Amino acid sequence: MNPPLPLIRSPLLAQFPHVALAQSTRQGADASAPFGFNLGYGLGDDENRVTAAVAQFAERLDLDPEDLAFMNQVHGATIREISEPGVYDDTDAIITRQPRVGLTVRTADCVPVMLYAPGENLIAAVHAGWRGTAEHIAQKTAEKLIGEYHADAATLYAFIGASAASCCYEVGEDVAALFPEGFIIREGDGNPRLDLKGLNRHQLEQAGIPADNINVSELCTIHEQTLLHSYRRDAERSGRMLTTIVLKEAV
Ligand SMILES: [Zn+2]
Repeated sequence: MNPPLPLIRSPLLAQFPHVALAQSTRQGADASAPFGFNLGYGLGDDENRVTAAVAQFAERLDLDPEDLAFMNQVHGATIREISEPGVYDDTDAIITRQPRVGLTVRTADCVPVMLYAPGENLIAAVHAGWRGTAEHIAQKTAEKLIGEYHADAATLYAFIGASAASCCYEVGEDVAALFPEGFIIREGDGNPRLDLKGLNRHQLEQAGIPADNINVSELCTIHEQTLLHSYRRDAERSGRMLTTIVLKEAV
């Protein structure tokens, strides 16, 4: 029997019946799995185990693994509209109106930003590390939903998932210099720390999304050692988590 599979959900988005969202954790594998519950290929984990784990995660969203749309994330600012599952190269944000296409972001510390426009039945998924955040990818995606897809900013909703948080996420001065000082924490002689989640929240607000419509996970990948994967913490021994948002089929 598989151990329980804890998932991170958005209480804000859970109020909407036509959308489903979940972020995986490192919990859910049996003790023999070297990477824990890992949804990333190519890391040295057994590929069959990863495939089974992806299927188990998808099932919790009432999806088959074939319903997921992945990005070969490159820390850029390319946003694509898609209408079917698959793997999209050189992409860090995807948008769809299509039900049963599970927009998926793969992370170990980067920020997954998921957007939902209930009025337009439109969703988006964004991968925002520090590079993507410096390129304002979450803001550009929200602005695209509003400007090109005519989503009403007042009824756009967002989930900012578990990711490296300002308690732990140290960066060099060269990276810190890319961001407003208000999102840099400086204490003592240590390196500056970056509030990547706060920056993405701020960008969504800049796009016009009301603060109350943005749900930010408090969880920090770097210090939640038993719950979450972190590349910053575990480097080559780190697995990956998926965050997926999907429009449910009309009933
Ligand atoms: Zn932390």
